Amino acid sequence: MQMLRLINVMEILVKETIEDILKNCQELCKCERCKLDMAAIALNKLSPSYVVTAEGEVLLRVGSLKQQNKVDIIRVVTEAIDIVGKKPHHSREDS
Ligand SMILES: [Zn+2]
Repeated sequence: MQMLRLINVMEILVKETIEDILKNCQELCKCERCKLDMAAIALNKLSPSYVVTAEGEVLLRVGSLKQQNKVDIIRVVTEAIDIVGKKPHHSREDS
C-alpha cells in the first residue's frame, strides 16, 4: 500500500517564500528558530490548504495555489519576517 500523507500546501509555499525573501536580507537572523517563528505567524494569517498526497507524488496544486495567492502570501510573510526580525525569540548572542 502507498504511503499517504496529509500536507498543507500553504505551508510549503510560505516556507519557500520565507527562504526567497531572507536570501535578500543580509541583516536578518536566518536560524531555524526564526524561520519557524516566521512560518507560524504567516500561516496563522493565511487559510490552510490541505491535500492528501502519495509519497513522492508531484504536487500539482502547489503551482496553482501559488498563482492565486502570491500577493497575499508575500504580504503576510513580509509582515511575519518584520515581526520576528525586530524581536527574535532568542537572544542575539545565540544566533
Ligand atoms: Zn534566529
